[in-house]
Amino acid sequence: MKQKPTAGPDGWSNWAGNQTASPFLVERPIDESQLIDVVVRSLHAKRQIRAIGSGHSFTAAAVADQTLIDLSGYNRIVAADKMTGLVTVQSGMALSQLNDELDQLGLAMPNLGDIVYQTISGALSTGTHGTGATLGGLATQVREMRIVSGTGELTTLTGDDLALAIIGLGAFGIVSTITLQCVPSFNLHVVNEPMKLSAALGQFEELADTNDHFEFYWVPHTKWALTKKNNRTDRPLTPRSKVSAFANDYLFENVAFGAITKIGKRRPSLIPRLATAAPSSGRTEFVDKSFEVFASPRFVKFVEQEYAIPRAAVPEALRSITEMVDKKGYQISFPVEVRVTAADDVALSTAYGRPSGYIAVHMVKGSDHTAYFKDVEDILRTYDGRPHWGKLHTRTYEDLAPTYKRLDDVRALRNQMDPNGLCSNAYVNRVFGPVQ
Ligand SMILES: Cc1cc2nc3c(=O)[nH]c(=O)nc-3n(C[C@H](O)[C@H](O)[C@H](O)COP(=O)(O)OP(=O)(O)OC[C@H]3O[C@@H](n4cnc5c(N)ncnc54)[C@H](O)[C@@H]3O)c2cc1C
Repeated sequence: MKQKPTAGPDGWSNWAGNQTASPFLVERPIDESQLIDVVVRSLHAKRQIRAIGSGHSFTAAAVADQTLIDLSGYNRIVAADKMTGLVTVQSGMALSQLNDELDQLGLAMPNLGDIVYQTISGALSTGTHGTGATLGGLATQVREMRIVSGTGELTTLTGDDLALAIIGLGAFGIVSTITLQCVPSFNLHVVNEPMKLSAALGQFEELADTNDHFEFYWVPHTKWALTKKNNRTDRPLTPRSKVSAFANDYLFENVAFGAITKIGKRRPSLIPRLATAAPSSGRTEFVDKSFEVFASPRFVKFVEQEYAIPRAAVPEALRSITEMVDKKGYQISFPVEVRVTAADDVALSTAYGRPSGYIAVHMVKGSDHTAYFKDVEDILRTYDGRPHWGKLHTRTYEDLAPTYKRLDDVRALRNQMDPNGLCSNAYVNRVFGPVQ
């Protein structure tokens, strides 16, 4: 299935279809000198630039009104050291391609989110993360970033500058290459099983701490959670048959919820009854390569909001959400996803300085998500919640500054690297403030 929206004669839209752009110009550099040339020409023409990844952000992060830079042809591994695990990749490479090529080298990313359609630079720029109490988001795996700044200069960022700019929403320039710290390839032992929501919340900290990668989905209108426990193993591969993978990933995760959402769109009052029937899937257990386990295909289109809060607050916050859904009478056809990550020191990471729990809510594309997302956002803000930069939220620079202690350091570096605001768009200005 084609997942990558590109800019055509009718303009560009993101995967979810809730963001569109009609750029004046589309540029498709395929090497670093062409990339520098695009930035310098745009600077002289005073035309703003914006790189797109795979369009998997729900926010307007990738909306390019003037010059859109499509890096899908800039997608190769340029250096790989099997001994150290350091791998340098061009910024337009899709995570799916990266995983396959790393596997051939005997390497892997230590953690991933739940899809691999994103490009490496798109995923990094918005703070994409997976789950795992001892692991940070993808940005913590980066050791070096080469970037063509808004002044047209090629710069290599490491250390503190890297920590400030890596989750940068394209506001510092166009990322050229990224050096990742990879690990030897590994297998995961997977146990997926339903659990009572009360038990999953009661044992949440323990489940998070005793599994390498723990997450669960609460199925709204039911008392059930679908738990996923993935642990590193030396056991040989016992991958699911294609039929079983299809039944779980396609039929259950996509079609079952797809059917609920389709019927629910016409008859919302049926959603609670349909939802109660859905989570009856049993226990599945298998061993597969890490990157095959982390990611699943997505066929049902939706919009999403995700907040990070201090990990210990997750059970209380999720209970408040379940009560709010009942009280307000919302009919929700998508599960609520709960994950964890370690604290990190990346300035704009949602897990900056604190072990974090993530609560993500979804609504099928085309339905009105605003009231439900707002009520969830209001609850999570009481826990000093931080929104995912690529997922819907209503926050602005003014109210993000108190929770991101280094936001003004980020702005200072941005002012230096892009003094003319060449690399800004409306969303970047909303969350970072305008270039000064
Ligand atoms: C179905 C689905 C599942 C998802 N699952 C997860 C998940 O498990 N975990 C998670 O954290 N997030 C998840 N996301 C969110 C997703 O990971 C992020 O929104 C990510 O940014 C998308 O990457 P992309 O390549 O599509 O980038 P885009 O959305 O196209 O762009 C994102 C940002 O990156 C910038 N950018 C891209 N390339 C460059 C470059 N070369 N230089 C400078 N800036 C650049 C863009 O300008 C934009 O600001 C999911 C999204 C969807 C639709």
